Amino acid sequence: MLHAFDKGVFETMKGIMGDERIEVPLNAKIKWAGSFYHYPLQFGDMVKGMNPFVLLRCCFGLLAYQAWYKIFPKETLNAEDALIQLYGRPLYQFFFRDFTHRYWGFPPTELSATFIKTKMPRLSAVDVMKKLLAKIGIKEKDGSAVDSALREETLHYSRKGAEAMPRLLAEAIRQLGCEVHTHARVCGLQVAGARVISVTYEDSRDGSRQTVPCSDVISTIPVRDLILAMGDAAPEPVRASASQLRSKAVAVYGLLVNKPQAINCLYIYYRDKEFHRVGEPKNAGLIVNPPDHTVLIVETTCEVGDAKWNGDPEAMEKIHTDLEAEGICRRDQIVQTHLLRTPHGYPVFSLGFEQHLDAVNEHIRSLENVLTTGRQGGFCYPNMHKAMRMGADAAEAVLGRA
Ligand SMILES: Cc1cc2nc3c(=O)[nH]c(=O)nc-3n(C[C@H](O)[C@H](O)[C@H](O)COP(=O)(O)OP(=O)(O)OC[C@H]3O[C@@H](n4cnc5c(N)ncnc54)[C@H](O)[C@@H]3O)c2cc1C
Repeated sequence: MLHAFDKGVFETMKGIMGDERIEVPLNAKIKWAGSFYHYPLQFGDMVKGMNPFVLLRCCFGLLAYQAWYKIFPKETLNAEDALIQLYGRPLYQFFFRDFTHRYWGFPPTELSATFIKTKMPRLSAVDVMKKLLAKIGIKEKDGSAVDSALREETLHYSRKGAEAMPRLLAEAIRQLGCEVHTHARVCGLQVAGARVISVTYEDSRDGSRQTVPCSDVISTIPVRDLILAMGDAAPEPVRASASQLRSKAVAVYGLLVNKPQAINCLYIYYRDKEFHRVGEPKNAGLIVNPPDHTVLIVETTCEVGDAKWNGDPEAMEKIHTDLEAEGICRRDQIVQTHLLRTPHGYPVFSLGFEQHLDAVNEHIRSLENVLTTGRQGGFCYPNMHKAMRMGADAAEAVLGRA
């Protein structure tokens, strides 16, 4: 669903989507300590989920660690360090450690502190504590965590689902006289001096290859693959750095369920299940056939080739068990399962990734006519509106060079 935060992007997309755009009030929940709360979690809700002893320990830990790091500032070595500095060790152990490990598939000690500083929404419960601490002079350094997600917002969607936006965007581009090629996997960039002179792509339907001469390249494929597609034209150390830039794969199970409605909101976040989010797009206005059925979008992180990626019976069994345990649907109500997956769900900010990204970006900057942008190309975490803004900025940069 599209956010309307970027006015320019939103107005453009509103025009392009026309009658197909529908407005949807944000209504998301999180399951926490056995109960459902509005997402993102608020201070009062979080407290309700903790026993008084644990709460006291966490508050004391937050206070003590904040004071300690104020007096003895320390460089954060990894995500564990960064979370402990932000929230104190008891709250880190209680709330973050196991979930972060389960989500990424490796412990927070192997995740870069940059992830915590730039991506992770601040836990609003902790904001309240921090405001209290700030009043007595204990303040954290600026920019050490991103703002909390919004609680109230109107999102933009379509009765046909998320496919409407790229479809209508491609139509608008074609109407301007441009070509859009799909099923086209970029497999080679030919470099002469400091310029890319052509791009080769493979048609995934028949394996045929096309080479297109070019004046400029704006790339939104994974930055690692962009470098590797240059072959020997990229220096070996740059290719080695590119190979270190990993992505976390996602496997999304789309289920057609013989039940008119399964949950009472747009989506629910879970912290200790096989999936981390379950969405029901019918609640946002998606037309489902047959009308007395619904669709569930069950999101999981995985590794390419593992049971969740393959949709193996053992993975399905665990998902079905968790869906039943949560009262979302019974396994006999699931009439169809569609597995959608991508190796490039989330850029992995693993320990030390910064130096590899710098090396790769420096090489790309040395090329006169190549820009890499967007979520995979910029190795960052924009939502759709921000990725579109990054694309518009790249286009303007190319026009500025002409
Ligand atoms: C599960 C999930 C749910 C999300 N939900 C929302 C949401 O509701 N709202 C929102 O605003 N954002 C959402 N996001 C974020 C959103 O998906 C991204 O912001 C957006 O897709 C970024 O666009 P992009 O074009 O930069 O990258 P991508 O959408 O990742 O596009 C990169 C494209 O490059 C293609 N590609 C890869 N290699 C090659 C190659 N060699 N040759 C040619 N093509 C290649 C890929 O197939 C892909 O289509 C979600 C993300 C995830 C993972």
